[in-house]
Amino acid sequence: MIREARSIVVLTGAGVSAESGISTFRDAEMGLWAKYDPMELAHIDAFHRDPELVTRWYHWRFTRCKDCTPNPGHHALAELQRQTEARGGSFSLLTQNVDGLHQRAGSTNVSEIHGTILTWRCTKTGKHHELEDIDFSSFPPTSEAGGILRPNVIWFGEMLPEKELERAFSDSSTCDVFMSVGTSSVVQPAASLIDLAKSHGARTIEVNLEPTPISESVDVSLFGKAGEELPKVLDQLNGEA
Ligand code: NAD
Repeated sequence: MIREARSIVVLTGAGVSAESGISTFRDAEMGLWAKYDPMELAHIDAFHRDPELVTRWYHWRFTRCKDCTPNPGHHALAELQRQTEARGGSFSLLTQNVDGLHQRAGSTNVSEIHGTILTWRCTKTGKHHELEDIDFSSFPPTSEAGGILRPNVIWFGEMLPEKELERAFSDSSTCDVFMSVGTSSVVQPAASLIDLAKSHGARTIEVNLEPTPISESVDVSLFGKAGEELPKVLDQLNGEA
């Protein structure tokens, strides 16, 4: 399927970064944050209610991400992009992850539909700030304009970025193959993209540790770790397995 595809879309979720040491939300190893529900901290209302708590948590998550490195799953997707584009095909990587690991593995033109934790912005002026320029000695961090700084992620209760959404819908409705990797497929609208692709005739592949709501309707399910299954896919494509 992949070899014959002219256009491939891959949607990734937190599972693809799990082997890099970044917990998924549904399998959170929270340490000092054990008493908090990450799904609640990732809500715009939580930020309004308690900006200190939420910015502390995102700063903690950022420091975890910074120390992690891309795993074989991220590298396999970057290589799949190179090979697909080298033979004249198109490849679109849509990620729900905010950790920047796909880009660090060499993937290009990645669509971060839930934003990124790697830049923060001023709630007063909208100005973006690089992390190294932010004073995290107290929480919530503030800008020189006196506004609170928040991560550039899309929280529950917020609109997804229009441009990224348009691309996600457009690429999904025109691809030949749609792969869903390491996502529980319950967070909308990302979870509905595979149905859109399928309704336009795409073949569908899922890579996950366990069955998800889409498992029954995909053409191929690869149950296992993304960091093991994706390199195996590449090996098969290249005739090495
Ligand atoms: P999720 O936590 O809901 O689901 C993760 C999925 O990955 C599960 O289905 C699980 O079975 C699977 N999984 C776990 N380890 C895996 C592995 N090694 N290989 C393959 N699959 C594996 O995550 P989600 O679906 O991405 O949705 C939750 C939201 O949380 C997203 O919006 C995302 O933005 C955010 N989030 C991001 C990060 C990150 O940036 N790394 C981490 C946690 C949560």
